Amino acid sequence: MEKIRKILLSERQMPRQWYNIVADMPNKPLPPLNPATRQPIGPEALTAVFPMELIKQEVSAERYIDIPDEVLDLYRLYRPSPLYRAVSLEKALGTKSKIYYKYEGGNYSGSHKANTAIAQAYYNKKEGVRRITTETGAGQWGSAMSFACNHFGLELLVFMVKVSYDQKPGRKLMMNVYNAKVIPSPSTMTAAGRKILEQDPDSPGSLGIAISEAMEIAVEDPYTKYSLGSVLNHVILHQTIIGQEALLQMEKAGDYPDVVIGCFGGGSNFSGIAFPFLREFFQNGKKIRLLTVEPSSCPKLTRGKFMYDFGDSAGMTPLLPMYTLGHNFIPEKIHAGGLRYHGAGVLVSQLLKDGFIEAKAKMQRECFEGGILFARTEGILPAPESTYAIAGALDEARKADLEGVSRTILFNLSGHGHLDISAYEKYFENNLPDHELTVTEVEEAISKITF
Ligand SMILES: *Cc1c(COP(=O)(O)O)cnc(C)c1O
Repeated sequence: MEKIRKILLSERQMPRQWYNIVADMPNKPLPPLNPATRQPIGPEALTAVFPMELIKQEVSAERYIDIPDEVLDLYRLYRPSPLYRAVSLEKALGTKSKIYYKYEGGNYSGSHKANTAIAQAYYNKKEGVRRITTETGAGQWGSAMSFACNHFGLELLVFMVKVSYDQKPGRKLMMNVYNAKVIPSPSTMTAAGRKILEQDPDSPGSLGIAISEAMEIAVEDPYTKYSLGSVLNHVILHQTIIGQEALLQMEKAGDYPDVVIGCFGGGSNFSGIAFPFLREFFQNGKKIRLLTVEPSSCPKLTRGKFMYDFGDSAGMTPLLPMYTLGHNFIPEKIHAGGLRYHGAGVLVSQLLKDGFIEAKAKMQRECFEGGILFARTEGILPAPESTYAIAGALDEARKADLEGVSRTILFNLSGHGHLDISAYEKYFENNLPDHELTVTEVEEAISKITF
């Protein structure tokens, strides 16, 4: 029997609302705290850095939020995104299970980050903002924001984590093409950057440091706001377009997943695909396993601590209740740059704590191996970040075969790896070491959390 490979939706079938999981969570997320008073902050505390509409979304408990027409219009450049059945990968594995993946790499930025970049740029423009500052780890977020800001006539200043700036010159050039200015972080442009450079002139940088730099510039100028590509509730909200489409596509395929998988940096692509399925569980009792995969060199979900911590290294953000390795933790220079973040989104953290989500950590070589098998069978070169989801899916298929059962597996392929080709070169040269934190390193990192 011929198997369907590709499940498409028409433009008209694209969902017109984002889904807010807060409405359905049994335990609502704990509030963000003012670090000085330890009291919950109100929305007004965020107005220096974010436009009002995004702040409202950040604290919203509404179940559905309408996607503005201007945002839908740009989504239509690349959405609905395709959902594939990985027929050739299944065959190569000889598995009895069915593997599906949602492909979010087929847009101007090459990753799912476009879904929130477009929305964020739109709301900023609407509220009279002229310039946006942001950070980027691997460069995908910066690329996503560059095009979106340029489209809406906003200037963009990107602090790019130094190690990625050096490893991925292609990403910087791409941002330049889309009209953004890119600065390696830590930089001498901000007090936060200068402080780090004094302590360590060769600092590879981290997302936490780059966030501090971008926020510092935004706070100083009323026409400049700051933008974050992961972690926050409004970012996760925008990404739910992925899972809502996937639900329709699985229905069209006449199937339903037993497990939904995504890689984990700050939680946005995983939440984006997973939360609409969790809604089906909360509202209709449809059973589902949700599994997220993080790197063993930055294992905040599996080995970090659930507690209040800062989202950035200089302590400029409110205190957020999340799984963290500590805001001063600087992860190893692994090649999945988008997964090198010390903390995790508040919503995912609460749901993990409450047992609705599973997390596991994997080493980078095994993930690259899975990524290469995927590229050779399915014909898409995955982003290093996405290989963690692939490796998670392979584990699930193999486990099902060992148990003698067939499962339906769905994972999110968060992006393509065309600009990460040097990481693949290192893998082939055997120059991509595995890295795992020791127990002492984890304890040390967590004991350093102070505020
Ligand atoms: C940024 C990024 C990630 C990690 O971020 P999340 O917010 O956890 O999704 C994963 N994959 C790709 C391709 C990315 O660009």
